[in-house]
Amino acid sequence: MTDAYTRFVRSAPGGLLAKQLGLPRPSRLLRRKDRPAPVLGPVVVLGDSAGADAIAHRLLEDGADVRRRPDELRSIGSVLLVLDEIATPADLGPVVLTLASAMRSLAPGARVVTISRPAGGGDASGAKDAALAAARGGVEGFLRSLAHEMRGGATANGILVADGVGLDAPGVVGALRFFLSARSAFVSGQFVTVSTSAGSATENPSLPLVGRTALVTGAARGIGAAIARTLAADGARLVLLDVPGAGTELSRLANELRAVPIQLDVTADGAGERLVSFLRERDLTLDVAVLNAGITRDKLLANMTADRWDPVLAVNITSQLTLTDALLEAGDVLGEHPRVVSLASTSGIAGNRGQTNYAASKAGVIAFVDALAARLAPLGGTANAVAPGFIETEMTAKIPPLTREIARRVNSLQQGGLPVDVAETIAFLASDEAGGIQGETLRVCGQNMVGK
Ligand code: NAD
Repeated sequence: MTDAYTRFVRSAPGGLLAKQLGLPRPSRLLRRKDRPAPVLGPVVVLGDSAGADAIAHRLLEDGADVRRRPDELRSIGSVLLVLDEIATPADLGPVVLTLASAMRSLAPGARVVTISRPAGGGDASGAKDAALAAARGGVEGFLRSLAHEMRGGATANGILVADGVGLDAPGVVGALRFFLSARSAFVSGQFVTVSTSAGSATENPSLPLVGRTALVTGAARGIGAAIARTLAADGARLVLLDVPGAGTELSRLANELRAVPIQLDVTADGAGERLVSFLRERDLTLDVAVLNAGITRDKLLANMTADRWDPVLAVNITSQLTLTDALLEAGDVLGEHPRVVSLASTSGIAGNRGQTNYAASKAGVIAFVDALAARLAPLGGTANAVAPGFIETEMTAKIPPLTREIARRVNSLQQGGLPVDVAETIAFLASDEAGGIQGETLRVCGQNMVGK
């Protein structure tokens, strides 16, 4: 699904005109179907820590073409900057400037990934090493700026590995695989924190969710339908939920994916208990719950009324509280290591004019997954959120044309994302490898200019 402007500037006369006028010329992003190879090589691993050596070895074992210097490479697919042992801001320069000399050799769709430690924290007494904190904080500013400079559909993202967690932890390996792959095509300028060594290696990388059962709410169309298709392609068995009014589309998708459909309004009285009974009657236990159902009812606060405020809060956040409470309290409908992935939004991070109701609900989701993560951790489970920016769906097709055109261009990749981009990120967070990622909100927004 390409918008009309992008089709025009990809034509020869359109491209020339856009170049002359200095208008955005979005590159074609390669998704999984376009680039199934897990890593775009050659991969240059920069940094001289033991962690850098270990990562280089691991990539070699996986069959990647790994180099420790970019010299004389005319085309570079991926660059890893392993900065886990930097101690002062002066330690950044030698690694970063090696990448600087290689920037013009990055291939279209290249990947740059930093691996470093979070700036916060301190020793047991809470005392902080100021130089260490400054060096680690510097990685974040560097990476976010670099992502704005990437061209040709290339992206730059970072992995923050908590102190005490090894670079060989499943969460680090999983996040690295995700950022290096085409599955993260619309994720740029983002960090994901791996806070524990929990999780396990994926036994079957081509079918990472085989043997898992996943619920997707709001599955009949848009992002929900893409999530269903992606999880099914990754091997999951699916329970697909949507309102009775979307029953026809829901049944069609369920037939296509051999999934179990359930028609239920997530805001209905007793919705959680009805879902639990439905699962028990069919002897189903959920390993993954994707809480995707969501609505907008935009108005400036001056014109906001209860009939616009209440349903948005009810669908987007209150239903997530009641459904997860019911699933957890039932005690017999969740599998081991349950994964919850909720849909937030960049509006919940940065706010958006006309969306006080929606942003309140989505900021609520971000705080909710953080709280739920603490409740699920003792069960070996995780809760995380994905915050899409502008994604091409029926929801965003309703935005007035000029506002829509601006909204889809104000990101580093100069285009709207596709539902599959959100779905791929959710599939990553649902995977075994992501067990050490807890209470995070990962943006899928092409580095939208709003918020941090
Ligand atoms: P959409 O309107 O295309 O689809 C939403 C689905 O949720 C529909 O199938 C709808 O029937 C279902 N739904 C709505 N209310 C429900 C209820 N009470 N019970 C059960 N199902 C219900 O929306 P989308 O664009 O695919 O958005 C999916 C999610 O992604 C939402 O949570 C949305 O807030 C979020 N999101 C979307 C974008 C975007 O750019 N499209 C950006 C940020 C966040």
